Amino acid sequence: MLIVGITGGIGSGKSAVTRELEQLGIEVVDADIVARDVVKPGEKALEDITAHFGNHLLTSAGDLNRAALRTLIFDDPAARKWLEERLHPIIRERIVQQLNNAQSPYVVLASPLLLETDQHQLTDHIVVVDVPEAIQITRTGSRDSNSAAQVKAIIQAQMPRDQKIAKADTIIDNSADLATLKTKVIDLHAKLLTLVKQAPN
Ligand code: ATP
Repeated sequence: MLIVGITGGIGSGKSAVTRELEQLGIEVVDADIVARDVVKPGEKALEDITAHFGNHLLTSAGDLNRAALRTLIFDDPAARKWLEERLHPIIRERIVQQLNNAQSPYVVLASPLLLETDQHQLTDHIVVVDVPEAIQITRTGSRDSNSAAQVKAIIQAQMPRDQKIAKADTIIDNSADLATLKTKVIDLHAKLLTLVKQAPN
């Protein structure tokens, strides 16, 4: 099974691309969703987190209080390291399971941290969705009412655009409108189906 990784900076249009691919019948494994799923109530990882840090990290409904956890690890590198070392293998295993279960001609792994983590090693073809920083700021701002300064800070913390592009097998420039993006995704889909046909079984 051909595994296609899709990544890009904040607000670049990863979700817009994967939505179009889903319309074309392609299954998408979303690393952000997996990362949320593994800490749902009843999951072993959530029990481990509360055993380690305490029950104050739970909301009254028993969910993980993400804001409290973010605050806790923000200026505590040891806590962050513990959390990442605990969650990382679980997330990866869950991603691999979902990729293996996919039935479509190829499967997509969408992840903002595809290139920053070892997740890219799971993929055969890397697609980077790319827009200039000014567009990242305006699109993310109108979606989440983030300030330009907040978005800039997130962009600074992510892998620089040129480094991402250097690792891409395919670059999708998403600086035009959504109709243009759709035609680009249809072209991408055709190219990936050709790769599937060429790949040895
Ligand atoms: P994040 O990393 O923040 O989750 P993302 O890379 O998944 O972001 P999207 O959510 O797909 O990005 O796009 C960001 C915003 O820009 C959304 O509101 C989306 O509808 C809009 N958008 C995406 N592509 C275009 C486009 N070509 N033209 C106009 N708006 C767009």
